[in-house]
Amino acid sequence: MINVDKIREDFPILKETVHGKPLVYFDNAATSQTPQIVIDTIVDYYISYNANIHRGVHTLSQIATDKYEQARIKIQNHFNAKEAYEIILTSGTTHSINIVAAGFASLINKDDEIIVSALEHHSNIVPWQMLCEKTGAILKVIPMNEDGSLEMELYHNLLNENTKLVFCNHVSNALGTLNPIKEIIDAAHKVNAAVLIDGAQATPHIKPDVQALDVDFYVASAHKLCGPTGVGLLYGKQEWLEKLPPYQGGGEMIETVSFKKTTYAGLPHKFEAGTPNICGGIAFGTAIEYMNSIGFNNIVSYENELLEYGTQELLKIKGLKIYGATKEKTAVISFNVNEIHPYDIGSILDKLGIAVRTGHHCAQPIMDFYKIPGTIRASFSFYNTKEEIDVLVNGVKRAVQMLS
Ligand SMILES: *Cc1c(COP(=O)(O)O)cnc(C)c1O
Repeated sequence: MINVDKIREDFPILKETVHGKPLVYFDNAATSQTPQIVIDTIVDYYISYNANIHRGVHTLSQIATDKYEQARIKIQNHFNAKEAYEIILTSGTTHSINIVAAGFASLINKDDEIIVSALEHHSNIVPWQMLCEKTGAILKVIPMNEDGSLEMELYHNLLNENTKLVFCNHVSNALGTLNPIKEIIDAAHKVNAAVLIDGAQATPHIKPDVQALDVDFYVASAHKLCGPTGVGLLYGKQEWLEKLPPYQGGGEMIETVSFKKTTYAGLPHKFEAGTPNICGGIAFGTAIEYMNSIGFNNIVSYENELLEYGTQELLKIKGLKIYGATKEKTAVISFNVNEIHPYDIGSILDKLGIAVRTGHHCAQPIMDFYKIPGTIRASFSFYNTKEEIDVLVNGVKRAVQMLS
């Protein structure tokens, strides 16, 4: 069970006001808020042991290195990776995807096929298009249905012996659709294709088990699960990480350097060139501990309550249409009212202290599918309340009155 009043005490920002109104933060799918314990971890790093890692014999460097590597193990345990060195700490989902996409340039040939889903975030479309341009590989798309689910039959038809890679998000950020990734992974493996799952939107709600999923790559960002911005993870199976060439050259990622030949360091350092976001990595570990202390089962069942309540109350508004209505979805409601531009409603909501996202949510192909410029997206977290949903519903009603 969630004690939401107690949880809200953990998040100092929830006491803020915006335009003189109490903040109602419903933009959790863009970034989550930060609990005090994570803020304390960041402050503590700069106050007591700020030092570079992996290279100093001095005490502070050793403390920082230990904490950083402990964070890697916390992340490993959370995702149930077999080895800690299969967890590469990156600057976030986008960075992680680019490491894999750039690496595959040397493993892919002309006329090989790459499959992506129609529900992707731009960060999961553009790197593959760049890879195809570079290699002459062909990009294929799993189409979507009206309810925001993927056309799985067509996916199975797309797979063949030329398929080398499949990319799909675990949960769609624009609609909240929870995709059948186990089925996607198993089918891809039958034709020996590798699978990368974008977990940026799933990880705030679900604790993925990368070994049970048998996924080849899994990526996520700390800032969507109560951690800081600028840090994230690339999980890769050891065999794949060893096959991929390094993404960037620099310090940290080498074993020996001479002008004749440089040999690369082993995992995970091969993919971690330069000084990383040390404090961010350590705070990522704290964020994961915090989320687990609340418990993902509790988080999901409470968020589902909010989703059900929000859906029911919003649908009472005349002319309101919700996009993405699959049974399996996370606590995201993407909607429009009549022909009113989402931006206009969003601006009025902001004046009322309500933070929602408006626009195409970095998923323009989905908006093209529905033939709309964008949506208003309210995304809930375990620190939100039904009372806040009431504030949103009244705000939308007021905005619609003003705009029609
Ligand atoms: C947020 C998000 C991304 C991008 O994450 P960054 O932290 O901006 O790199 C990618 N995919 C999905 C599904 C997302 O929700």
